[in-house]
Amino acid sequence: MARKSLGFVNLIWTCPSCDTQNPGPIKSCTSCGAPQPDDIQFEKIDQEHFDFIKDEALIRMAKAGPDKHCPYCGTRNISKAERCKKCGADISVGAKVRQSGDKVGAKSIKPSTPTTPKKKNKTGCIIGAVIIGILVILGIILLINLLKTDTVNATVDAVNWSRSIAVEAYGPVSAEDWYDEIPSDADIVSCSMKFRYSSDEPQANATEVCGEPYTVDTGTGVGEVVQDCTYEVYDDYCEYIVMAWAVVDEVTLTGNDLQPQWPNLSLAPEQRLGEQKENYMIIFDASGKQYTYTISDLSLYSYAFPGSQWVLEVNGLGAVTSAAPAD
Ligand SMILES: [Zn+2]
Ligand SMILES: [Zn+2]
Repeated sequence: MARKSLGFVNLIWTCPSCDTQNPGPIKSCTSCGAPQPDDIQFEKIDQEHFDFIKDEALIRMAKAGPDKHCPYCGTRNISKAERCKKCGADISVGAKVRQSGDKVGAKSIKPSTPTTPKKKNKTGCIIGAVIIGILVILGIILLINLLKTDTVNATVDAVNWSRSIAVEAYGPVSAEDWYDEIPSDADIVSCSMKFRYSSDEPQANATEVCGEPYTVDTGTGVGEVVQDCTYEVYDDYCEYIVMAWAVVDEVTLTGNDLQPQWPNLSLAPEQRLGEQKENYMIIFDASGKQYTYTISDLSLYSYAFPGSQWVLEVNGLGAVTSAAPAD
């Protein structure tokens, strides 16, 4: 998310010794003279409105970076200071830089009333835990049934096969895509603007969507009012026509013997063969119980003579996971 700056506002701090509210940039209490503690929190003056600073020098100071505290006498100095303005010590290294970047809250006027802790709904928690427990157990049972297999001796009862070939034709095909993704030889029918993606950085053709402004502590006693924004990018989305191969038909041949055939096709000009599919189903009988096994492996299928003996692996859900002729 992009952070957009709206301007700078004055902050205040409250002297812990005498409770006086002091302007943020003032570094010792205006009433009792106590130095500002280095962990003091700056606060907003007005929660509702932003009274933006117009003083360029003050804005430059706020932009320069957080103030730092002299490691010898604790005095707050501006970020660029090399010597402490109070004791003169070299503070180019080792000075404690003020915390910055945090959201600043408004000075709370009301004393905070302790909130009565809400009674937790214990019954709800227990019911939830029981439901989760049952679901976990059911999941484990299902998994065990899927993994566990039984060996079953069976006889081939019947077989059937199906083979299909798709027919493709070359011709105009209608499609949709973003303008910059459309093939160069396509004819564009129509386009309209459509939301494409959300960006953190400003973009062309974007709608800016910003959250509520809030104040951030710059560490200088001046706050920066910012807004988090995202950019919704809109782009041309088009319907177009392009010449391409497309499936126009599928021809299927079926049978119930062990000699599957491919369908015989006579193609028209501008047509070609597409995807070929083959499915072989063996139906077994095991003491009156029927199992079906569907494969695309022709060599295994060719052993499935009706009446022949097979050994099946059957999982807990009754599905055949593998099969092989006995002997
Ligand atoms: Zn004071
Ligand atoms: Zn000092």
